[in-house]
Amino acid sequence: MVAEVRLIPCLKDNYAVLLHDPSGATALVDAPDAAPIRAALEAADWRLSDLLVTHHHGDHTAGIAELKKQFNCRVIAPRREAAKIPGVDVTVREGDFVTIGTMVGRVLETPGHTNGHIAYWFKQEKLAFVGDTLFSVGCGRVIEGTPEVMWQSLLKLRGLPPDTQVYCGHEYTAANVHFALTIEPNNAALRARAEEVVALCGEGRPTIPTTISSEKSTNPFLRADLPSLAAAVNRPDDGGAQIFAVIRARKDKF
Ligand SMILES: [Zn+2]
Repeated sequence: MVAEVRLIPCLKDNYAVLLHDPSGATALVDAPDAAPIRAALEAADWRLSDLLVTHHHGDHTAGIAELKKQFNCRVIAPRREAAKIPGVDVTVREGDFVTIGTMVGRVLETPGHTNGHIAYWFKQEKLAFVGDTLFSVGCGRVIEGTPEVMWQSLLKLRGLPPDTQVYCGHEYTAANVHFALTIEPNNAALRARAEEVVALCGEGRPTIPTTISSEKSTNPFLRADLPSLAAAVNRPDDGGAQIFAVIRARKDKF
């Protein structure tokens, strides 16, 4: 028996994810909106046992109160942001483990988008839930942290096993691919991903999950320490954090 994962589109372009353990436990990662999540739970006949929060933004937390009221689920959230998140039962930080039935997830602190942002990595199941830190072919805006802090968080995620399935908080891939092609127009893996994304979006299908392996070959924000990226932005003498900052600033204006 293996874990089942269900991606739930919410609001305009958010994703929530259900993670179901054969033992019966079901965790939700982020709660943008209670209604579609409740519908997905009912359709699968799953009962929500745990709610894992990645960060405090409203489009990840607005559904918590309603879902907790209905399911009395355990709400797990980053310690550094617990005061900004409703209904928190358990706070976690780097290196802590969360147990969902028989599944064990490790907490990775990934600050930058927000200062307390965390990701959840289920090593055995080869799954990572990365919120708004890493997107497919992109990354979150650096809202509370610095580019250096965000770069370190991305390096942490880049270091996960290549075959890890990555679930992020938004469907931004098509726009991200457009931007990435302005940085690396000749990246063959990126061009292949672009075609794939056009096909998926054309069918109204999600581009998520992605994998660490795919992101390492296509995502300019994970590739900022490669000489080819430094050359692409005309900063041959700069290091990864500096190149990352340049690319992030360009994306913000794109
Ligand atoms: Zn956010």
